[in-house]
Amino acid sequence: MVGAILTQNANWKNVEKAIINLEPYLDPFVLFNMDIEKLASLIKPSGYYRLKAQRLKNFISFFIERFSGSVNDMKKMKLKELRKELLTVPGVGRETCDSILLYALSKPVFVVDAYTKRIGVRHGLFGDKVGYEEIRKRFEEEIGRDVYIYNEFHALLVKVGKEKCKKRESKCKTCPLESFL
Ligand code: SF4
Repeated sequence: MVGAILTQNANWKNVEKAIINLEPYLDPFVLFNMDIEKLASLIKPSGYYRLKAQRLKNFISFFIERFSGSVNDMKKMKLKELRKELLTVPGVGRETCDSILLYALSKPVFVVDAYTKRIGVRHGLFGDKVGYEEIRKRFEEEIGRDVYIYNEFHALLVKVGKEKCKKRESKCKTCPLESFL
């Protein structure tokens, strides 16, 4: 859940460095009581660290007030209601919310990111004005509800997006998705 917030506008390698710094303190109550300046300095490698420290504080307050800091209690809540509540936490947007739901809580939600959109648009699955929810629903309808496949599918899209389907260059000739063009 912490990773989902730290990875906003950051690459995972830098997020990992921040998480290693945070490791001795990865307890909701410890983070809740931690001075925000100290939290910001620990997560500095992930970038936008002051903003992210505030966002982490917002999320941790919600997590403690609503679920007493218990992941199991959070997991027990129905997906639709939990998603709605998570989206009310300042700094938790759709992608962050769905990453928490899928990766931390094993809820069947397809996570949409810039790679998903770019690949989908280039393959004519939707137009470039498409919104987050439309993409999410499309993938969920096509794939069906399956946490494992959502995990794997998203990871593979990220890999293709990073290595082949780049913002300014499409390396279609060596891309595993070329036959789907
Ligand atoms: S084949 Fe690969 S690189 Fe080319 S548009 Fe599709 S995903 Fe992007």
